[in-house]
Amino acid sequence: MIRVGVFGAAGRMGRTVCEAVVADPDLSLVAAVDPEHAGLDLRQVAKVDSDLAIAGSADALLESCAEVVVDFTVLDAARENLAFLAEHGLHAVVGTTGFTDADLTRVAASFTKSSCLIAPNFAIGAVLMMRFAEMAAPWFETAEVIELHHDLKVDSPSGTAMRTVERMAAASDTWAPDPTEREVIPGARGASGPAGIPIHSVRLRGLVAHQEVLLGTTGQSLSIRHDSYDRSSFMPGVLLAVKQVAERPGLTVGLDALLFPDP
Ligand code: NAD
Repeated sequence: MIRVGVFGAAGRMGRTVCEAVVADPDLSLVAAVDPEHAGLDLRQVAKVDSDLAIAGSADALLESCAEVVVDFTVLDAARENLAFLAEHGLHAVVGTTGFTDADLTRVAASFTKSSCLIAPNFAIGAVLMMRFAEMAAPWFETAEVIELHHDLKVDSPSGTAMRTVERMAAASDTWAPDPTEREVIPGARGASGPAGIPIHSVRLRGLVAHQEVLLGTTGQSLSIRHDSYDRSSFMPGVLLAVKQVAERPGLTVGLDALLFPDP
């Protein structure tokens, strides 16, 4: 049994992680940390059969001998939480988004006694979508990415859309120029991402997280689409990371290394 703690346990993702950990026979949920909800019973915020109380401080992770700690919080909190986990030799699985390259360099240097995996998207289907788009890129000269999210998302484009286009741009250098000479409404062609690949952001009530990659060449097109309908879509990826993080020294970014291990 791996002893698991959760930072951000009362949040939308954190409580789903608590439920998934409790339901997994190989894992034991030993600590739930969320300062803004400290003192509540975990069962008041999550559908779990557990007597855990939500703790206000990371010390609960040490007191409960957690081995792997999952973080779905906010960027500033996650930075502090990671420093704590690295200092105390606890493994980290991080879903919080927004880390800069400088953050990743700092995290890589700090995890000397334990391991850290940071994935901007834990949905295995989304990881495959990015991989398939990267594989297809050299065979098409034109591409556009449409990402669609719920109407409370405050940033655009999504990190997944940016990462998809970065990988497609790096995989090919034969992209055709945009033919548009006049935009009647500015922005009609979307935002110009890496290699000029257009990214379109849709915000619609009722959606969760969706993305379509369109690729076109003479006489044919290819559409690659992924849909997350529910936060449970992220849990198989989170649980996989929790079970494997200890075997990957230092920092791992993204789930690719777990899904496609070197032969
Ligand atoms: P949320 O606001 O519902 O939850 C965040 C929780 O963190 C809150 O309960 C808050 O009280 C808690 N928190 C704040 N500071 C803390 C601290 N110092 N220690 C412990 N807990 C603390 O947000 P959410 O929708 O659950 O999203 C959380 C993060 O996960 C965001 O960065 C979001 O972009 C990201 N996210 C990532 C994925 C992925 O697949 N990687 C998927 C969905 C969301």
